[in-house]
Amino acid sequence: MDDADEGSMKRLLSLLRELKWELPSNKSVRCCPRCGSPKIKLSSKFDIWLTPEQYVCEHCGYKGPVVLEKERKKERS
Ligand SMILES: [Zn+2]
Repeated sequence: MDDADEGSMKRLLSLLRELKWELPSNKSVRCCPRCGSPKIKLSSKFDIWLTPEQYVCEHCGYKGPVVLEKERKKERS
């Protein structure tokens, strides 16, 4: 019983995590606040439980919790 509950809970959590990370990228583009490059990523998906979100720019090396979010126009109708 406990094992089954834990398993479905983990699946739900991973689903929620995927949704959380996939949804914003569909609507908006995250850009580096320093150089404007869209090549910015979360430094680690697993650290955010312990520390605030940190983004890393692959272009200029910026690292910090702040990113620019530009709304993306709908390409698909
Ligand atoms: Zn940058």
